Amino acid sequence: MAVPSFARILRLLPLLLLPAFCLLQAQNVRLARPTPKVGEFHVLKADLHMHTVFSDGEVWPTTRVLEAWREDLDVISISDHDDYHPHEKDVTADLNRPFAIASPLAQGLGILLVPGVEITKGDIHFNALFVTEFNAFRGKELQVALAEAKRQSAFSFWNHPGWKGTAQWWPPIATAFSDKLLQGIEVVNGNSYYAEAHPWVGQYKLTILSNSDIHRPSLSAEERSLTLLFAREKSLGGVREALDSGRTVAWQQKRLIGSEALLTSLFRAYVQTPAHIQPPAGTRTAALQIRNVSALHFDLKVVEAPKWMTVTASQAAPQSTALFTVRLAKDAPASRQRVTLRLEVSNALAGPNTPLVVPVEFDYVP
Ligand SMILES: [Zn+2]
Ligand SMILES: [Zn+2]
Repeated sequence: MAVPSFARILRLLPLLLLPAFCLLQAQNVRLARPTPKVGEFHVLKADLHMHTVFSDGEVWPTTRVLEAWREDLDVISISDHDDYHPHEKDVTADLNRPFAIASPLAQGLGILLVPGVEITKGDIHFNALFVTEFNAFRGKELQVALAEAKRQSAFSFWNHPGWKGTAQWWPPIATAFSDKLLQGIEVVNGNSYYAEAHPWVGQYKLTILSNSDIHRPSLSAEERSLTLLFAREKSLGGVREALDSGRTVAWQQKRLIGSEALLTSLFRAYVQTPAHIQPPAGTRTAALQIRNVSALHFDLKVVEAPKWMTVTASQAAPQSTALFTVRLAKDAPASRQRVTLRLEVSNALAGPNTPLVVPVEFDYVP
């Protein structure tokens, strides 16, 4: 085969570089998924459970940081297993390494990196966050490892409670709880939502967690389950204070799970309803515009309205304004009225099978 001339290589060069250029472009675009402040709180997007090649994951720690940056996350924790190291022949089992490797890039990209380990004892797994000695849990019994996490002033939560079938408040969990070794629970892990574990949040005053537990490379930001942290400041201290105070909401694709108070405050901050509605002269229909300034979904259903008013509402999609029609009966009032609609936010769960209901008020101006 003839050797291509230098001039020909020069001509082909842009074509040869194109794939590399595309790859660079694809790698360096950050999605915008706005979660504006709610009152005094920053709403931080966190994934506090993920794996790398240092346990049974398939990626290097810096990849986790870059993925988080691309997907507009604020906080991550790399939580490799203490006692499960299938790649040990090729990669050291020293659990100091993933955090040490990921730290400089996280710092450079403004991602908060929480030191974490997954305490992995049989079918019961916990994540310990804010650990100071990563290797101290290895080869220990569950209660001893959890006591060690407490000694390190870690924040510990129960991972994927229903991954082996319907979750129960197993004896080791009850013991961990009574010994004050359990502060939170993954109500969501990846694509799973454990409805049976949801009531324990209120019953035992546990912090709600929702994480990806990702092992392979992250392919879709929308499918990654996250925890929204209501933090007084965007710092590791702020993350810890929010977790300790139970100010979290689970965000699993379209679904939101949290306390009625936090879900209501999210809705109030992110969904804007008009101050008044007015039908054009001589008509009996008015426009109701509902604007959602966030990356969250809000599926809406009107569950209560004045008898003389019919409103059909469906959803307020992320970062958009939805237009709904208000139909007015013949006996609608002839003078200005204060109106209250009760909206069900069907995808926001304040408890199992308990969608959030929020009152929305505006003036009706005939
Ligand atoms: Zn696990
Ligand atoms: Zn895991």
